[in-house]
Amino acid sequence: GMPALPPPTLAPRRKTRQIKVGKVLVGGDAPVSVQSMTTTPTNDVNKTLQQIAELTAAGCDIVRVACPRQEDADALAEIAQHSQIPVIADIHFQPGYVFAAIEAGCAAVRVNPGNIRKFDDQVKEIAAAAKDHGTSLRIGVNAGSLDKRLLEKYGKATPEALVESAVWEASLFEEHDFHDFKISVKHNDPVIMVRAYELLAERGDWPLHLGVTEAGPAFQGTIKSSVAFGALLSKGIGDTIRVSLSAPPVEEVKVGLQILQSLNLRERKLEIVSCPSCGRAQVDVYTLAEQVTAGLEGMEVPLRVAVMGCVVNGPGEAREADLGVASGNGKGQIFVKGEVIKTVPEAAIVETLIEEAMRIAEEMGDP
Ligand code: SF4
Repeated sequence: GMPALPPPTLAPRRKTRQIKVGKVLVGGDAPVSVQSMTTTPTNDVNKTLQQIAELTAAGCDIVRVACPRQEDADALAEIAQHSQIPVIADIHFQPGYVFAAIEAGCAAVRVNPGNIRKFDDQVKEIAAAAKDHGTSLRIGVNAGSLDKRLLEKYGKATPEALVESAVWEASLFEEHDFHDFKISVKHNDPVIMVRAYELLAERGDWPLHLGVTEAGPAFQGTIKSSVAFGALLSKGIGDTIRVSLSAPPVEEVKVGLQILQSLNLRERKLEIVSCPSCGRAQVDVYTLAEQVTAGLEGMEVPLRVAVMGCVVNGPGEAREADLGVASGNGKGQIFVKGEVIKTVPEAAIVETLIEEAMRIAEEMGDP
């Protein structure tokens, strides 16, 4: 038969140059990748690798590790060798660690030009070492560490100031014919951040790493990042993303993946379509939705499961989904692909939905 068309997106991806972050391609027609950052002391190799394994299992594509001290730089080789996903060393102040990270086999190095004072003299050597090892770079401009010169010129970290810094740093590498880098221009204010990336996207074909810095605790950070990334990705801007949360990094990955799935930039996996409940509800929708979500966590097949509180919109939505329940009168009508397959007592709704979901998933090829 006809191959299924991919689901529509809001805009074609902006054409960017493609770079390699280890085995992960960033830019061009590569899927938008999801990044996170470990929170363990990097020199604690076991703990760091354990956290990287958790991030990998959660669907993280690329992981970044901080490298503030010599003992962290010393740990990079072992981490890079044993990580299942490409490792980026994050280096702020010491150009020496950039060379250490490149030699350690890190897939990429994030440099913050604003923080590397003697950067200018060393760009040539960094470019040469990176080229030799097939290492890519990220030029990571941050509102909080903007170059003094630009802060004075613009008064504060405006979108124009962030972009001027980024374009200038990029030119330093390009002068040495080095092009394997992506750029980020992060700010904690989504409005400034979005504007900065829009301006930057007009200035060159660099792949862009999206991030809202210091986005906050999980609730606020999720919303700030979703709004900002949504605004940019809906215009095709953004090649890799990192959601920053004051929460465990696995949460960042979940949010990042969900943002991409919402925009059809990733295949949707399990999707719970649950109603908000209202005065018509004849069942505790919140608990029901939570229990179904918990019971189906980790399912790797695209499955829409509808959990509806009453029979007004219930059956309609439940029919649209792969699987669903419409509740009423102490019972649940269970729908599969639009057909009522059975009616069960309220107490059996959750287990019936989970059973049916597992059965469908098996048919779809979930191990
Ligand atoms: Fe209200 Fe029923 Fe709609 Fe849920 S499905 S929001 S209970 S009308």
